Amino acid sequence: MPRVRRIPQRQCVACGRTRGKREMIRVVRTPSGDVRVDVTGKLAGRGAYVCPEPSCIDRAVRDGRLAGALELPLPDGLRAALTEAASRDTTPRAPVVRRVSLQQVLEARRGETGEGGGRRSGRTSDRASLGSETEGSS
Ligand SMILES: [Zn+2]
Repeated sequence: MPRVRRIPQRQCVACGRTRGKREMIRVVRTPSGDVRVDVTGKLAGRGAYVCPEPSCIDRAVRDGRLAGALELPLPDGLRAALTEAASRDTTPRAPVVRRVSLQQVLEARRGETGEGGGRRSGRTSDRASLGSETEGSS
C-alpha cells in the first residue's frame, strides 16, 4: 500500500482557485433536494466549494455560480449560513487564560488588616446573684 498522504484539493466556484478541502466551505445538495452548508464535511450529496472569504461568497451567491454548480437555486438563508461558516473558520480560537498575580492577592489581603485600633469596649460582667434559700421544715 502506498503511504502517500494527499490533501484533497477543491476548486472554488467563485474564483477558481484550488485549495485544501478543509480550508474551503462545502455546500451540498442533499439527495432530498436541499442546499446546505456542510460544516462537518460529511454530508452526502453533490458538493461545491467556496473560499471562506466574503468576496468569494458574494460572487458565488450573486453570480449564481453556486446555484449553477449545484444545479439548484439557493435557499434564502444560505448566504448567511456561508458567511457564518466563513467567520467561524477563520477566527483563531485562542484560549483565554486568566491569571491572578501574587501582587493582587497580597493587596487584597492588606485591605483586610487595616486600621483596627481604638478603645476596647469593656464589658461589666453581671454579678450572679446567689440568693436561693432552701427552707428546711420539719
Ligand atoms: Zn474563492
